[in-house]
Amino acid sequence: MFKKNLPKKVNVIEVGPRDGFQFEPTIIPTELKVQIIEDLVGAGISQIQVTSFVNPKKVPQMADAEKLVRLLPKKEHVIYSGLVLNAKGVERAAAAGISHVEISISASDTHGLKNAGMSFSQAFSQAKDMIRLAKSFHQTIRASVQCSFGCAFEGEVDTRRVIQIVEEYLEHGVDAVCLSDTTGMATPLKLEYLLGKVIPLAKQIPTMLHLHDTRGLGLVNVMTALLNGVTYFDTSLGGMGGCPFVPNASGNIATEDTVYLLESLGIETGIDKTKVAKCSIRLEHFLNKRFSGKFQHEYLLRHSGEGISPVRHQA
Ligand code: ZN
Repeated sequence: MFKKNLPKKVNVIEVGPRDGFQFEPTIIPTELKVQIIEDLVGAGISQIQVTSFVNPKKVPQMADAEKLVRLLPKKEHVIYSGLVLNAKGVERAAAAGISHVEISISASDTHGLKNAGMSFSQAFSQAKDMIRLAKSFHQTIRASVQCSFGCAFEGEVDTRRVIQIVEEYLEHGVDAVCLSDTTGMATPLKLEYLLGKVIPLAKQIPTMLHLHDTRGLGLVNVMTALLNGVTYFDTSLGGMGGCPFVPNASGNIATEDTVYLLESLGIETGIDKTKVAKCSIRLEHFLNKRFSGKFQHEYLLRHSGEGISPVRHQA
């Protein structure tokens, strides 16, 4: 019944190397990051958020942003993007040769203060300057609204504020908008409501979704979003990730699990989920922890005779 309303193809944007890695206190060597990104490209992923150009004192895991970008394999069909939170970040990204940047404003004052050190109104005016600056560098700009569906500190977030930010972004000529469920508070009904407002506003500009699986509704939300016209989803390998400034934040929806769902619906992604699972398992071993994704562990059970062994679960 719903099959006719589903898209034929979906763009899966891998954000693990940024959203996933930044959450880990153990510094992942740049060389390992590069190998993982190479393997993700080999698995068919063509859009990867590779790093963020932020204060290395606040997010030490991202201190190697420039070095990482220098070492990335250059592939014509692959888009590498970087997250930026201020003008300095935009400049650093441009100098590093990153042509796709993500800027973001939090719809929640408290989260914005903790994450970017700015109030909503400060962030709002700064975002306009960042867009202008990024355009002067001919960068493609994805503009996201963090805490679009709620905030761990403030609870409900005013939907009008989310829409106001999106309108402002669109007026300033961004190339894509993204609704971020930073704290995993989206539900199918909230999604349907907000997408019903934002997609008609954005028109031909893609509306993307960044979902976290904090309360276990990640893939249910993907399903709802698919039925409401979204064809761009952020995911992270193995479901790793979280926000360092959100208590109990859990990972993004897992790349493998999302691809598995999409495949089961007959939707094309171009991604080999078992190759992604191998990357997740490699990182689980390096960090000696289990990520929250499901597919990679099920894959392990089937392939444990091939020298791939699981990481012990740590409480
Ligand atoms: Zn996130």
